[in-house]
Amino acid sequence: MKKVITDFNLDNKRVIIRCDFNVPIENGKILDDNRIKESLKTINYAIDNNAKVILLSHLGRIKEEKDKKENDLRPVAKRLSELLNKKVVFVNETRGEVLENTIKNMKPKDVILVQNTRYEDLPGKKESSNDEELGKYWASLGDIFINDAFGTAHRAHASNVGIASNLPSGLGFLMEKELKMLGEKLNNPKRPYVVIAAGAKMKDKIVVIDKLIEKADYVLLGGGIANTFLVAKEIDVKNSIYDEESVSHAKELLKKYPKKIILPVDGLGSLEYKDNLKVYSFDVDSIPDNVMMLDIGKKTIEIFKKYLNNANTVFWNGPVGVNYFKNFENGTKALCEILNKLKAHVIIGGGDSAAAVISLGYKDCFDHISTGGGAALEFIEKKKLPGVEIISDK
Ligand code: ADP
Ligand code: MG
Repeated sequence: MKKVITDFNLDNKRVIIRCDFNVPIENGKILDDNRIKESLKTINYAIDNNAKVILLSHLGRIKEEKDKKENDLRPVAKRLSELLNKKVVFVNETRGEVLENTIKNMKPKDVILVQNTRYEDLPGKKESSNDEELGKYWASLGDIFINDAFGTAHRAHASNVGIASNLPSGLGFLMEKELKMLGEKLNNPKRPYVVIAAGAKMKDKIVVIDKLIEKADYVLLGGGIANTFLVAKEIDVKNSIYDEESVSHAKELLKKYPKKIILPVDGLGSLEYKDNLKVYSFDVDSIPDNVMMLDIGKKTIEIFKKYLNNANTVFWNGPVGVNYFKNFENGTKALCEILNKLKAHVIIGGGDSAAAVISLGYKDCFDHISTGGGAALEFIEKKKLPGVEIISDK
């Protein structure tokens, strides 16, 4: 068992909390603050227990100097301060005298947010390659390290694994919740256990799909994943996206699990990957020439509904259509509506999947919407994450 934040006496201690504040920001405006809200429980616990709270997070990727401006964490400090109803001091550097002096002058319950950890990727990718000196330096700024950044737990970076290698460490509440929902609940699911696997890139997901199919009673497929299986059944998907390299693997899976894999029977599409063109409606074995399937159809929704209505556990990864096109959001929306009415335990995982259900208005309708895309899938696949493994044992 890994240590958790409640295992420590935080009183008057400098507590470094690695959060996942990697939120979409456009022109200084935060478009979705879900990840910030999900971090509040751990931060508030540290404040309530008289810690000096030092927050670290990455934001986006920093490959060249000009990326810094776009990925400045300052707007997060402002939003966090509103949500905590408390001053959050923003330190516009990732190392040096200003940072060190700010921390020296902190009193219990003070909160500071340090600039984007990935500023240290220039030069030399120090953060992303878990540079030893950087991990040691950040660790020297605190007494205890709490990792609550589930979204980056599949990466060994200086701001998670690096610091944890040099300080007593524990997991935050969000991390605990993610591991419980995606671990315990999906490893020993209440059956029937139904998985919805959709989205775009089959190749990236094939290993995790293998694991999910093995465990689930039924797997409902959509998006580019379904198309790859349709091609494996020698259906002509016309201009729809699918992954040529994965077709033979899909064939094997269809042979091994003929009853488990449930494919779309109809769909909607158009001549281009656009929202404002004529919408075609068709059965999958007669997709019109030059059309790309961009959503599942009504008959498919009815079939999926029957499986979902019997489920006791549902895990959903990947929108079943291009949900940000009005013309092709219906399938994903219909599934949200069906799942919202179920008594089953419903868990959503995947970056675009989480964004889709939140933007369609279903944020509070499920048992858990994971804050990690890649991390959620990697955890389901490997049952281990470097950012968790490094945490001190109880
Ligand atoms: P996640 O991030 O949840 O794991 P993915 O990254 O695999 O999901 O895929 C999400 C993307 O797949 C969405 O942007 C969605 O628009 C797209 N998508 C879904 N169905 C289709 C389809 N039939 N054709 C093309 N793109 C699709
Ligand atoms: Mg994605």
